[in-house]
Amino acid sequence: MRPIFFHQDTTKTKVQFDTTKKGYEVAHALQALRHTIESPLPLSRTVLERYHTKQYIDAIEFGEPHDLAESQGFAWDENTWLSATAQTGAMVAAVYAAMAQGSAYALASGFHHAAAGHGGGFCTFNGIAIAAGEALAAGARRVIVLDFDAHGGGGTHGMISGWENILHYDLSTSPYEYYTPTAPHRRAHVSNALQYLPTIQALLEDLDTQVLPRDVVILNAGMDSYEGCDIGGLNGITIEMLRERDRLVDIWARRNQLSVAACLAGGYQGNRYPQELLVQIHTESVLRICAD
Ligand SMILES: [Zn+2]
Repeated sequence: MRPIFFHQDTTKTKVQFDTTKKGYEVAHALQALRHTIESPLPLSRTVLERYHTKQYIDAIEFGEPHDLAESQGFAWDENTWLSATAQTGAMVAAVYAAMAQGSAYALASGFHHAAAGHGGGFCTFNGIAIAAGEALAAGARRVIVLDFDAHGGGGTHGMISGWENILHYDLSTSPYEYYTPTAPHRRAHVSNALQYLPTIQALLEDLDTQVLPRDVVILNAGMDSYEGCDIGGLNGITIEMLRERDRLVDIWARRNQLSVAACLAGGYQGNRYPQELLVQIHTESVLRICAD
């Protein structure tokens, strides 16, 4: 098994929500299957300052200004900083491990709506953009962000759109954070479930002509497009289709010898999306992407 990262501080916020608690639940499910979970270093302030404004970083660390400290939509508390740096630290650890070992998974979420100067949509710091930037700084030839969370990743797009050697392909099933990407980045919106897998296949085929071995893929592997998910689900998208999506990405990445760093992203339990099913589909994604 390739490396899987989770930091216990992720769950320390007073507010308990899927973005903070499900990483712990997936880690437990994996440990029950006798897989090892590695604890990453929390992300340092030095690295954060390369991507987020000092005012916003201060707000998350110290709670002021209040509106900014809660701009992602959660009540701030003294552990908000620990949780956010634990999650982004896991994502950066995963991208380094993927570059060295082929693939890795961060049991972390809450990244792609965060902008340089504020949070949004349950996302505090943008671990996707940070991991992409750190991968490029560490010598990656190119980073391809595949954002398959149900919602648009406009925070990521705003941060990375001017960078070189990065491609952002964003597939959404919810109109939340609809934005128009600048070239060469692409955004696809699916409102008919029958188009979900064909659209993913077309995106991957398009990338087949561009990628080279050891290019780094950051996969935002959200499970919130499932029709039972109250936040982002689309009628007709089944758990089996999400499974097939990850299978397509995994086959494509291995065939092209790409390095894949994935994270949990969205997926919210509710009446029609029981916790066991949510944890199971995320766990299956980890087992697939991180298989030797
Ligand atoms: Zn989402």
